Amino acid sequence: MVGSSPQTLVMKFGGTSVGTPEAITQTAQIIQRQRALTPRLIVVTSALSGVTDLLLNSAAAAARGDSNTYNQAVQTLRNKHEAALKALIPDRARQEEIRGAITLLILDFANLCQAIGVLGEATPRALDAVASLGERMAVRLLAGVLENMNVSAQYVEATRLIVTDDNFQSANPDIPATQMATRAVLNTLLDQGVVPVVTGFAGATRSGVTTTLGRGGSDYTAALIGATLPADEVWIWTDVDGVMTADPRIVPGATTIEELTYREVSELAYAGAKVLHPKTIRPVIEAGIGLRVLNTFNPDCPGTRLVSELPVADQHIVKSVTAIRGQSLVTLEGRGMLGVPGVAARTFAAIAATGTSITLISQASSEQAICLAVPVNTAEVLVSALQNEFYREIQRKDIDRVWATGEVVIVTVVGEGMRSTPGVAGKVFSALGEKRVNVIAIAQGSSEVSISFVINAEDIRTAVQTLHDLVIKEGAR
Ligand code: ADP
Ligand code: ASP
Ligand code: MG
Repeated sequence: MVGSSPQTLVMKFGGTSVGTPEAITQTAQIIQRQRALTPRLIVVTSALSGVTDLLLNSAAAAARGDSNTYNQAVQTLRNKHEAALKALIPDRARQEEIRGAITLLILDFANLCQAIGVLGEATPRALDAVASLGERMAVRLLAGVLENMNVSAQYVEATRLIVTDDNFQSANPDIPATQMATRAVLNTLLDQGVVPVVTGFAGATRSGVTTTLGRGGSDYTAALIGATLPADEVWIWTDVDGVMTADPRIVPGATTIEELTYREVSELAYAGAKVLHPKTIRPVIEAGIGLRVLNTFNPDCPGTRLVSELPVADQHIVKSVTAIRGQSLVTLEGRGMLGVPGVAARTFAAIAATGTSITLISQASSEQAICLAVPVNTAEVLVSALQNEFYREIQRKDIDRVWATGEVVIVTVVGEGMRSTPGVAGKVFSALGEKRVNVIAIAQGSSEVSISFVINAEDIRTAVQTLHDLVIKEGAR
């Protein structure tokens, strides 16, 4: 284990950490050991791995009139939770009680899918009600396993803690209201020596309607609870040895980064490193509490510690490389654009009106083109929106065309040392040039600790591997 014993600690476990009976055992042992060191321990858990996808895919299928998918999912959900229940909770009465609770949630799922099928539409509100069910099953199971190990535990629905607006599927927390609720509910349990086991991902509006914080949002739940309670630290337990020099699924030689600044990890998280949800960092910085990323399956590895500053000697020029797949580059171009006032403002307003969020912006210095990276499935709608907005300029030939590429990838390199080191971009692009990777557009992060660029989707492995070699070679100053 990591050897430290904060007085108040939030530990969040991801889907793989509770994905199988063996993983749940491992997780429960980590909690049990930590409980001996930390008097006030709060656990946040994700749904069992694969469950959220299963729930959401079933709801989408139901909306298309397909009821087979959710009927099959009912069986899969039963089997998955039943396997853990049988293996880990031998006490018959407790097993029966938890089975009953999970069965009711599965019934809710089937009823919701049926209603979605009748309506022929899955609204964001209905999808949140469906998606949050996975965590609700998981907390009951994990709390039961802990009780079985004589760790006093109580499941808690985050709908009682995290107060949000009604921006379903990516709800925004109301921090003062969340703080009041979190303190009232959790302190009562903590004062009694109980470990609260809280559902990640979910929240509720003031009037009690269930919302979710966005995919991967359980990290954010942990940060919100840690910041509002407040805890001394938040530990994110996942399935790799911390934040690494690249996604180990793409670069097998990737290694763990022991210390990373908040700026670096924010850039990485926003640039696609799934290991930490991008919204996790802000509440933690604002509350001034510690954050670590650890591996459930290698708990003695110290993982990654996030820090506010690093001594200059420890700053690396390029520390990690990450990528976002499934993008398209939408370009607005024309020589007459130079004279048209407010092109950028009108472009962004037209895009905002479609509800799309832009992943990357790059403008040629000649002002002859504005390039925007957006999720590839939104590109067609955006091109039409921009063609409508600039209809007159297109007629007058001030704007030549608005067009979108096929699928592209955004690759980002991150390193605090970049700010004070000239020539980093040069090194990055020569390395890519040598491997004949064509760079389509470039943008530098505003905090100057990252450079992002757009490449063709088929070049992702070569680009990430090449830049990872650079991380290894050039990393330290
Ligand atoms: P959890 O279910 O525990 O929240 P996630 O799947 O959301 O886990 O995030 C962990 C995964 O993030 C890892 O398995 C890894 O493949 C991926 N990942 C992407 N980039 C990085 C990186 N730079 N460092 C570590 N893991 C990364
Ligand atoms: N279970 C949710 C998801 O898969 C939240 C999370 O895992 O963080 O997106
Ligand atoms: Mg995650």
